[in-house]
Amino acid sequence: MSMSTPFPSRRVAVFGATGSIGTSALDVIARHRQRFQASVLAAGSNVDALVALCVRHRPQHAVIADPTLFARLRDGLRDAGLPTQAHAGGEALDALAAGDQCDTVIAAIVGAAGLPSTLAAARAGKRLLLANKESLVLAGELLMRAAREGGAEIVPVDSEHNAIFQCLRGRDADAQVRRVLITASGGPFRGRGRAELAGVTVAQAVAHPKWSMGPKISVDSATLMNKGLEVIEAHHLFGLQPARIEVLVHPQSLVHSLVEFIDGSTLAQLGLPDMRTALAVGLGWPQRLESGVAGLDLLQHGRLDFEAPDTEAFPCLALAWSAMEAGGTAPAILNAANEVAVSAFLQGRIGFLAIPALVESTLTALPREPADSLQRLLAADAQARQTAERAISRLPPHA
Ligand code: NAD
Ligand code: MG
Repeated sequence: MSMSTPFPSRRVAVFGATGSIGTSALDVIARHRQRFQASVLAAGSNVDALVALCVRHRPQHAVIADPTLFARLRDGLRDAGLPTQAHAGGEALDALAAGDQCDTVIAAIVGAAGLPSTLAAARAGKRLLLANKESLVLAGELLMRAAREGGAEIVPVDSEHNAIFQCLRGRDADAQVRRVLITASGGPFRGRGRAELAGVTVAQAVAHPKWSMGPKISVDSATLMNKGLEVIEAHHLFGLQPARIEVLVHPQSLVHSLVEFIDGSTLAQLGLPDMRTALAVGLGWPQRLESGVAGLDLLQHGRLDFEAPDTEAFPCLALAWSAMEAGGTAPAILNAANEVAVSAFLQGRIGFLAIPALVESTLTALPREPADSLQRLLAADAQARQTAERAISRLPPHA
């Protein structure tokens, strides 16, 4: 670092670099090359996309989670003439999240697969830009404890939680906060009754009206499970009791969430639905950075509507709520069953309404245990995946 550098340069690891959040994060980083360097890029199995990102961003390290793809990554980097070092497998991911190759980690792997590297970054005291909400649902207490003990600074980049974080100015929700209101777009099927949801297709379910996202979270948005996961996420991130969290459907997706204080003030954060704003907040906090996102023209949008969520047509929200209240391993079971069900839906193996049915039957089938160790949570996760898979194999085609 030279004396003329205006800011200390931060080395950023992007986990889930080839995904929707990863791509947005790299877009923001590339706007600030003096200030941030993408030093580690990691992806699940798409080697070609990862190598292409390495050509553009020139990280020191690239990791592919699937260990069988190591040679393809190494050769791809070499053929592209890059000095980037190739790594493969989960242990390499965790070591790079914790090591001195980065000081900031963007946790944007999808699903429970993101938990080990997220925990490693938390324990190692990194600035942690947390998009991987499933890790908080699965192991919220352990992850928050690891962050506290490791001295990690978590900035949520889920848009709602990033909004709450901004309204709270980076603090915990204390006695001065009366409640938080998490907004929800309502997804592509807002306004439909249960009967009208039976035959919806994968293409319809992933066509989100306001946000462009990966397939899993898009389906979660269509079932409203995403909002349920986000309620649990808020409970852990901000230390909020369930009674102080509410969900408000807001179809325009311009108000990203609100915080009501005891004096009657409500603060909200507004902006266009583009994750680069939340990522820029995470990268620059407490400073503001240019993100590439335009400002909000309220005259052009005209109106902001709000309505109550329909938990009858979309039972996943209520299922998540009761799993949060049950505590222990219940949220881990909910999350695992949901991951299995969403994956089966995306593969065309089950219908849309089977998603809440499978989550509910898995929660009913398995006992709730205390969430006192990672081992116990991972065992609950594995057992829930098996139970849900078995239930799917017994379903008639497209139930
Ligand atoms: P995506 O499907 O677009 O990308 C997922 C990324 O994870 C890819 O880079 C993929 O290679 C990687 N990956 C998948 N399995 C992996 C594994 N086993 N090991 C390592 N890497 C693996 O997903 P996304 O929409 O970018 O979402 C990522 C996370 O961010 C999710 O937890 C999601 O809930 C959360 N999130 C996303 C958005 C959004 O706008 N997309 C908003 C809020 C929160
Ligand atoms: Mg969100």
